[in-house]
Amino acid sequence: MTPTDPQLDAAPRADLQPLAGWGVQPRVDCAVYRPSGAAAIRELIEHAGAQRTLISRGLGRSYGDPATNAQGVVLHTAMDRFLAFDDTTGVVTAEAGVSFADLIEALLPRGWFPAVTPGTKFVTLGGAVAADVHGKNHHRDGSFNTCVLSFDLLTPTGEHLTCSRDENTDVFWATLGGMGLTGFILAVTLQMLKVMSARIDVQTARVGSLDAMLEHFAKTDDDHRYSVSWIDCLARGAKLGRGVVMQGTHAPGNGESDLRPARRRAKTVPFHFPKQALNALSVKAFNTTYYAKHGSGRHTEGFGPFFYPLDAVHHWNRVYGRRGFVQYQPVFPEQDGAAGVRAVIEKLSAAKRSSFLAVLKRMGGQPVGPLGFPMAGLTLAVDMPRGPGLRDFLHELDAIVLDHGGRVYLAKDAEMTADTFAAMYPRLNEFQQIRRRLDPAGVMASTQARRLGIVGAP
Ligand SMILES: Cc1cc2nc3c(=O)[nH]c(=O)nc-3n(C[C@H](O)[C@H](O)[C@H](O)COP(=O)(O)OP(=O)(O)OC[C@H]3O[C@@H](n4cnc5c(N)ncnc54)[C@H](O)[C@@H]3O)c2cc1C
Repeated sequence: MTPTDPQLDAAPRADLQPLAGWGVQPRVDCAVYRPSGAAAIRELIEHAGAQRTLISRGLGRSYGDPATNAQGVVLHTAMDRFLAFDDTTGVVTAEAGVSFADLIEALLPRGWFPAVTPGTKFVTLGGAVAADVHGKNHHRDGSFNTCVLSFDLLTPTGEHLTCSRDENTDVFWATLGGMGLTGFILAVTLQMLKVMSARIDVQTARVGSLDAMLEHFAKTDDDHRYSVSWIDCLARGAKLGRGVVMQGTHAPGNGESDLRPARRRAKTVPFHFPKQALNALSVKAFNTTYYAKHGSGRHTEGFGPFFYPLDAVHHWNRVYGRRGFVQYQPVFPEQDGAAGVRAVIEKLSAAKRSSFLAVLKRMGGQPVGPLGFPMAGLTLAVDMPRGPGLRDFLHELDAIVLDHGGRVYLAKDAEMTADTFAAMYPRLNEFQQIRRRLDPAGVMASTQARRLGIVGAP
C-alpha cells in the first residue's frame, strides 16, 4: 500500500512501538492497536489484507516473542471488564484483558481464588488461555484448562465462536496452548476455587541432591495442593540438584478478616542494570546463601510471597540489563524425567550459565491441546542472561530435551528452531489443520509463529 492509498486512510490507527517479551530481547518495532471490543477488532481484520498480520498481546509476560509481530499487535488490556459472577458457585466471566491481579482483588475478599495460577499475577486471562498456563498444583489439578469452562473467540474471519468441552471442541483445545494463533479471545468463563483465608500453610525442606529431591516429591507431593522446589543449578558432583522444596495448602480461616490480603508495597527496578552486575560469582553467592537460609520447617505466609514472590519487585527483568535473558523451561516424561533433568543441570553447571532462578516441579497427566505443553513428569525452569554463544548453547539443551522425549514451553521459548519444534510437538499437523479452517487468509501471525514455522516463512 502507498500513503495515498484510500484503503490506508480508512485503516484503524496504529502506534509504532518497540515491543519485546519479558526477557527484554528480541525487540521488534510493532504496529500496536488498542481495540476496545469485538467491533474494533473486526475492523482491524477487515483492513489486514495480504500485507498485514495480527497477533494478540496481554501483559507481555511471555518471555520470548509470541506476543510481538512487526506487522501488527492487538493489545487486549483495554478489554478488562467483569461480565458476570456467581457468589454461590464461584463461576466468573470476564473480558480477556482482566488480569489475575484484578481477579484476586475483586474475588478473594468473597472467598474465591484462581484454581490454577502462574508465578506472576500480572497475566491476563487471554494470555493464560493462549499459553494454557500451569501453576504449583499441576501434579494434582492440571493446567489452566481444567478451570476454564468456556471462552468466546473472534476468529480471523470475524466469526464469533463460543468454545467449551461440548461446543466447538476442537477449537477449544487448539486455542488452549495455541499462542493466540486461532483468533482473538474476547472473554473467559472460569471456575474459581473456594478458600477461607488469604494465607498459605507452607512446609519447606532442604534436600541435598537431585535423587533426594525426587524421593521427597514422591513421598510428600500428594499431601499438598501446591509443590515446587528451588534448585541450586551451580552445585556439582554429589550435591548436583540440591535445593529447597516448598509445599503449601490454603490455610483455614473464619471469614472476612482472614480473606483480606496483606498489603505490601512493591519495589521497582528503575533502570536496566549494567552487564557486570550479574555474573557467575554473584549467582553462586546468591545460591549458596539462599540454600543456607532456607531450612526445613513450617510457617504460614500471605498468598503473595508464596505464589508471586517476583511480583514484589516491579520490572525485575531489568536486573539482566538491556541484553536481556531467556527462561528455558523443558518438561520430561515420567520414565526418563530424572535422567533428562540431570543431563540439563550437568550441562548448565559445567557451562557456568548462571541462574538465580531455577525451579523444578512435578507435573500430572491431565489432557492438553495439540500445542499444549504439560505432560506427566518433571519440569525445570532456568533463567540465563543473554550473551555470546547462548543461542548455540540453547540448541544443545534442546537436543538433550528431545533425546529424553521432552519439549520446551512456548510461553518461555525464544530461540527454538522450526525442526526442533516440529519434533517436540508431534500434533503440530492437527493444529495447523484447525488453523487453516479458522484462518484461511493467514491473518494471525507472531514473530514466534514465523520462527517456528507454524505459519508462513520466517
Ligand atoms: C515472573 C513470571 C512467572 C511466570 N510463571 C509461570 C508459571 O508458573 N507457569 C506458566 O505457565 N507460565 C508462567 N509465566 C509465563 C506467563 O504465565 C505466560 O507467558 C502468559 O501467557 C503471559 O500472559 P500475558 O497476559 O502477559 O500474555 P502475553 O505474554 O502478552 O501473550 C502470551 C500469548 O498469549 C496470546 N494472547 C494474549 N492475549 C490474548 C487474547 N486475548 N486472545 C488470544 N491470544 C492472546 C499472545 O498472542 C501470546 O501468544 C510466568 C511469567 C513471568 C514473567
